[in-house]
Amino acid sequence: MQHDPPSAPPTLFWRIKEQPGFTVVEFSGELNETVNLASLRRRLKGRVVLHLGGVRRINSSGVREWVNLMRDLSTAAKVTLSHCRPVIITQLNMISNFGGKARVSSFFAPYECSRCDREEERLVAIDTHFASKDFTRMPQFQCSACDGTMRFDEVVDRYLGFLWGSSESE
Ligand SMILES: [Zn+2]
Repeated sequence: MQHDPPSAPPTLFWRIKEQPGFTVVEFSGELNETVNLASLRRRLKGRVVLHLGGVRRINSSGVREWVNLMRDLSTAAKVTLSHCRPVIITQLNMISNFGGKARVSSFFAPYECSRCDREEERLVAIDTHFASKDFTRMPQFQCSACDGTMRFDEVVDRYLGFLWGSSESE
């Protein structure tokens, strides 16, 4: 394992927004060995939404730190993960305790236009797009450039693996 000098600047930032009845934490940056989530861990309780739209990269040290956060929060907080980037979805599908007891409310998915080949990440909201709990197909989107039909650019079963079994917990 490689250790960075203690002076390595943190690469992950977060902003805490107190809302009536719940707390939102907006993350941005990179989740890696420079990240220490202990101070954040102590501040969070009750209903918590972790907004992950700004997290573009994550490595194995970051995964460990994150898993610890989720484990500790599971007793003090009811956690929702929102705006999960594809890198987060990959981890959710690969590492069983990456999400802990958290519920995923929305995530980004890679799409490609079948007409003009434009690639876009689209935001998929579970309550809206999967209201019927049918996790065997992805919602359809129109291309923002040419209005063509966009194709989901991944394997549905694999990408949505983290949703299987989520329906019984609420
Ligand atoms: Zn297009």
